[in-house]
Amino acid sequence: MTSELIAALRARLGDERVSTAESVREQHSHGEGHHAPSMPAAVVFAQSTDDVAQTLALCNAHRVPLAAFGAGTSLEGHVNPPEGGISLDLSRMTELLSVNPQDMDCRVQAGITRQALNQILRDTGLFFPVDPGGEATIGGMCATRASGTAAVRYGTIRENVLGLTAVLADGRVMRTGGRVRKSATGYDLTHLLIGSEGTLGVITEIQLRLHPIPETIAAAVVQFETLSDAVATAIDILQFGVPIGRLELLDEVQMDASIRYSGLTGLRALPTLFLEFVGGPEAVREQIAVVEAIVSDRGGLGFDWHTDPDQRAALWRARHHAYWACLAYRPGYSAMTTDAIVPISVLAELVAGVKEDIAESGLTAPIVGHVGDGNFHTIILVPPTPEGLAQAWALDRKIVRRALALGGSCSGEHGIGLGKREFMADEHDPVALEVMRGFKKTMDPNGILNPGKML
Ligand SMILES: Cc1cc2nc3c(=O)[nH]c(=O)nc-3n(C[C@H](O)[C@H](O)[C@H](O)COP(=O)(O)OP(=O)(O)OC[C@H]3O[C@@H](n4cnc5c(N)ncnc54)[C@H](O)[C@@H]3O)c2cc1C
Repeated sequence: MTSELIAALRARLGDERVSTAESVREQHSHGEGHHAPSMPAAVVFAQSTDDVAQTLALCNAHRVPLAAFGAGTSLEGHVNPPEGGISLDLSRMTELLSVNPQDMDCRVQAGITRQALNQILRDTGLFFPVDPGGEATIGGMCATRASGTAAVRYGTIRENVLGLTAVLADGRVMRTGGRVRKSATGYDLTHLLIGSEGTLGVITEIQLRLHPIPETIAAAVVQFETLSDAVATAIDILQFGVPIGRLELLDEVQMDASIRYSGLTGLRALPTLFLEFVGGPEAVREQIAVVEAIVSDRGGLGFDWHTDPDQRAALWRARHHAYWACLAYRPGYSAMTTDAIVPISVLAELVAGVKEDIAESGLTAPIVGHVGDGNFHTIILVPPTPEGLAQAWALDRKIVRRALALGGSCSGEHGIGLGKREFMADEHDPVALEVMRGFKKTMDPNGILNPGKML
């Protein structure tokens, strides 16, 4: 059946766009997580919505599963195709289709990365703020409901998508939403697809909100003797209502790794907050004054801020390279990343508990994350042995259970994929899960879209 499908796909799209080469299939057999890879039978490279529609119609007719593939940076086995079938690669769909500077929106194809989009937008005075650490595609970010360091100010991808074009399992093309900032008409299908991890449809175009590049941007780094002081400072900043641009925590182990990897000068391996202030010059000065006072009350070791663009870029580059810094910290080890999130009132309790869990495990596991959202990652460095992997999984599970016990979630931004399915029943009530399964059945009656994921 699959070989007939591959022949039919080649006849429609051309040989060059349908690859069965071992190396290409291998590259599409996994993302960045620790979940067992599985080879697709073929990889299709789409260049348009019509390519996606034709591919899905054929897969559906042949009852062959299909997993969409953006950049493959997801961390929970999202792109692995356990049942084989087709991996549909959208990374060649990189066009910026339109920009409307006056309305501050744009329409993109799903395979463009946020870095490439911001590069093209740089002369418009506008930017797209959602910035996950990997070089992800906008389609993949929609499918995983991604966020990043700027979510505390600008929201996640969910708040920054106005509408979509998606292809349904049977090949029908559906356009949702529009260009208006709000709409009270009908079910919100745009946001049903956001976070659906390629299980309800394949997103081919996205209408995005853009934001003006702020007039003034200032960055600051504050170090603390204890992690609890750093976390308490972050919580105070939020509770005082400071409209902070970014608020990231790096514990002393992550700082040690980042200082070595990114050459951060003048900083010590201590718990640290990276902050960014955005707005008009007066507003930024006011925010800095409030935060400086909070930092002083909480025993922060100095408060240096600067507006120099190169210094700021170096700081945030170091933050975005935290994962690679961890890998370089223990050569030969791999990284398993947790994604716990809790209401900020219990964030300090969770971080303290996780530190105890790490110490008990005997593993090295730096903590870094978006504390401004109550979300942080423990990057567990996995020794290259079966016992090491088992220890890492045990620590990962312990951290999730701690977050759930505090009213949190197993994933603030990475999603469910294969890796977090067992927690769906802990987080959602049975009726909600039944409704989710109902959507899946209606939109993908033959179960061809990324089977085995999420539910
Ligand atoms: C170093 C590093 C740092 C990271 N930091 C962050 C972070 O700060 N915040 C964060 O949110 N994530 C982060 N991630 C995780 C990852 O980058 C995100 O999950 C990202 O959104 C995945 O995008 P992608 O293009 O790589 O998607 P992929 O990995 O290719 O796919 C992810 C899922 O989406 C589906 N999919 C992909 N494209 C489409 C489409 N067009 N239509 C429908 N379904 C589709 C796939 O089938 C799969 O289920 C990080 C990952 C790494 C490796």
